[in-house]
Amino acid sequence: MLYGKKDQERKKSYVIEPIFGTKAESQDIPKYKLGENPVEPSVAYRLVKDELLDEGNARQNLATFCQTYMEDEATLLMAETLEKNAIDKSEYPRTAELENRCVSMLADLWHAPEAIEYVGTSTVGSSEACMLGGLAMKFRWRNNAEKLGLDLQVQKPNLVISSGYQVCWEKFCVYWDIEMRVVPMSVAHMSIDVTKVMDYVDPYTIGIVGILGITYTGKFDDIAALDALVEEHNRQTDYKVYIHVDGASGAMFVPFIDPELVWDFRLKNVVSINTSGHKYGLVYPGIGWVLWRDKAYLPEELIFEVSYLGGKMPTMAINFSRSASPIIGQYYNFLRFGFEGYRAIHERTKQVAIFLANEIKKTGLFEVYNDGRNLPIVCYRLKESVEVEWTLYELADRLQMKGWQVPAYPLPPDLQTIIIQRYVVRADFGQSMAEEFIEDFNAALKELEQARILFHDKGEHGVQGFIH
Ligand SMILES: *Cc1c(COP(=O)(O)O)cnc(C)c1O
Repeated sequence: MLYGKKDQERKKSYVIEPIFGTKAESQDIPKYKLGENPVEPSVAYRLVKDELLDEGNARQNLATFCQTYMEDEATLLMAETLEKNAIDKSEYPRTAELENRCVSMLADLWHAPEAIEYVGTSTVGSSEACMLGGLAMKFRWRNNAEKLGLDLQVQKPNLVISSGYQVCWEKFCVYWDIEMRVVPMSVAHMSIDVTKVMDYVDPYTIGIVGILGITYTGKFDDIAALDALVEEHNRQTDYKVYIHVDGASGAMFVPFIDPELVWDFRLKNVVSINTSGHKYGLVYPGIGWVLWRDKAYLPEELIFEVSYLGGKMPTMAINFSRSASPIIGQYYNFLRFGFEGYRAIHERTKQVAIFLANEIKKTGLFEVYNDGRNLPIVCYRLKESVEVEWTLYELADRLQMKGWQVPAYPLPPDLQTIIIQRYVVRADFGQSMAEEFIEDFNAALKELEQARILFHDKGEHGVQGFIH
C-alpha cells in the first residue's frame, strides 16, 4: 500500500530516508545549547560538514604557512592513530620511539655536535616550542645570575629580538614577566640590525632570538653575524648570553635548499632551535619541535618526571595530553620523503615562488621585498612612485572574488606606514595553479584600473588576512 502508513512503520524506514529528507535537516541545528535528542551519525556528519561549507578553500589560501595537503596514506595513518596520547609514553612506547627518531633526525639536520648530548621534544607548534626555548633561557640566566650575585630585584630580565617577531614571543614575555627589548627594523635593515643589537644586551638579558624567516616578509636574520657578536660579548663578561633560533618556517626549509647557509648548531652560541612541523615539515597542524644542542642548556627544573601513567617518564613539554597522530604524520613524511624528497619538493616550491615574484615585477607597479629565493615567500608593496587610485586591500578583495586569500597588512612598528602583500607558497601550490593565479592577478589589476568601482575611504580598510 502506498498510503496510510502508521507512525510506527514510518519510524522503521527512517534510516533509509535521504539525509536531506530527515527531520534534523528540516530544523535549525543546536548551536549554543545542547539539543534535546541525539541525531543519526550520518546526519550529524552532513550537518557539521555543511556548517563548514562556506569556509575559504584552504589550498587557495596564500596567507598561511600551515600545510593544507598531505598524501592519502599519511592522512589515513594519522586518522588511525588519533587515539594515541603523545604524553603517555608507557602506553605507547613505540609512538615515543618515533618521536625520539624525529628529534634525532632534526638534530642531524641541524648539525648538533656529536660529542655532546642534545635533547628535544615535540610540541603543539612553534608557539609552545618558543615558550620552552625562552623558559630554558630564563632559567639558565637566573641560575647564572644568582651565582654571580646579581641583584634580581633591580630590574626584570629581558629578551632581545627584532621587531619582526612573531606574536608568540610577545606572549612569552607577557606570561613570564620579561621585558621585551625590541631592536627596530628599518628599510635598510629588514631583519635584526646587527650594528645595534648588542646595545640592547645587559646582565639582565636572558638571551637573543634570531629569526630564520621573519613572518612578515620571509627575510632571515643574519644568525652567523649574531653569533660572532655574541662570541665577542661572552669573551668579555661572565653574564653570557646565547642565541635561540626561531626557525618556525626556515629550519625545515633551509637545510634542504641552502645547506651552505650557516645558521644552526654549527654556530657555537646557537643553543636551541624551534620549528613548526606543520609549516615546511609538511604535516597538518599541530606539530612543532624544539631542540637544545646540549642538555646543559635545558635546566633540570624544566624536566618533570611523571609516574602516574605507568613507568616513570620525563616530560618537558608545557602541554600534557594531546593526540600523537601529528608526530606519526611527521615520522611518515621523514620516512617517505627522505632528504632528497624534501629537497625536491622544496626546490619546486621555491621555483614557483620565483615565478610569481617575476610576474609581479613585470607589472611595473610593485616593489618586491622578498622574491622567494630564501624561503618561498613573495612579498611586495606598491611602488612609491606609482600613482593609482586603489590600495593593496582592494586588490586583495578582488582576488578573493576568485577564491584566493591573500593578506595585506602593515609592517611592524617603525615601518608601519608600509603596507605589504605576502604569498606563502606551499608544496601543494604547483606551477599550473601559479599560472592560474597570475591570470586572476592581472585580471584584477585591469579591473581595478578600468572599472568604475567605489573604493573605501583611505585608512578605513582594516588589516586583511592572518599574519602567522
Ligand atoms: C608561525 C611562526 C610561529 C608560531 O608557530 P606556530 O607553529 O603557529 O605556533 C613562531 N615564529 C615564527 C617566526 C613563525 O613564522
